Amino acid sequence: PRSHAGRIALVTGAASGIGKAIATRLAAEGACVAVVDLKLESAQQAAAELGNTDVAIGLQADVTDAGQVAAAVEAAVLAFGGLDLVINNAGLSISKPLLETTEADWDLQHSVMAKGSFLVSQAAARVMMAQKLGGDIVYISSKNSVFAGPNNVAYSATKADQAHQVRLLAAELGEYGIKVNGINPDGVVRGSGIFAGGWGAKRAAVYGVPEEELGAYYAKRTLLKREVLPEHVANAVAVLTSDELSHTTGLHIPVDAGVAAA
Ligand code: NAD
Repeated sequence: PRSHAGRIALVTGAASGIGKAIATRLAAEGACVAVVDLKLESAQQAAAELGNTDVAIGLQADVTDAGQVAAAVEAAVLAFGGLDLVINNAGLSISKPLLETTEADWDLQHSVMAKGSFLVSQAAARVMMAQKLGGDIVYISSKNSVFAGPNNVAYSATKADQAHQVRLLAAELGEYGIKVNGINPDGVVRGSGIFAGGWGAKRAAVYGVPEEELGAYYAKRTLLKREVLPEHVANAVAVLTSDELSHTTGLHIPVDAGVAAA
């Protein structure tokens, strides 16, 4: 049986990388999926790969804009008749040493991930609380929400903000049957727009390896000696939001092949 049959999901940043893999997995589990991303065309293209408009739609929203977030949530509810499952995945990564991190870098990083996920969670909770059917909110946070590394202050600080949003919202929304959990991925190089768009080159320079060997480098430092792919994060989301974990909230699951445990 497909574990998400009939559920209605909204995934932010789902035109690429981890978000796209999550949308694909949830659709395969029987969910109707709203694919939300910055550009309408890429959101619609990713949605079309999941199926027809009865099961997947692409929506434009910049998660930093409350009006656009509200419009996307409203469009998803209108299209599918409700909202059961929201994944805060949209993100970007500015990798700079402390003294080079500008005020604009800090503001952008925090507006997309801390404020953006707050706005999405708030709009989703409003719908879920009115529906009285419970629900799931998942944050794609990061190993970096807990562990420190160099040249990463704005990104890691906003991931820690997301991690605390998980605990705060789990506490506030529990009585409505809404579970709020997080995933802490690490080293998802292949398929990631963040890595392809400059972050990969910067991390490779920090670690002193050629960029094309970065995935293998990350794999080597894991306990399992395995490379983490977007699909592995999507698997964790599917399990975390299935009935099997109906009594789990406020939790973060690492999907890092054991880096954080090392
Ligand atoms: P990605 O670039 O492939 O995907 C991010 C998506 O978010 C893109 O489609 C982008 O257009 C979208 N986005 C960016 N800003 C947005 C905004 N303001 N509004 C709406 N959408 C926006 O990168 P990814 O690696 O798949 O990252 C997805 C998430 O996973 C991010 O939150 C990232 O921080 C997190 N993460 C990634 C890794 C990794 O190793 N790749 C590790 C830990 C956490």
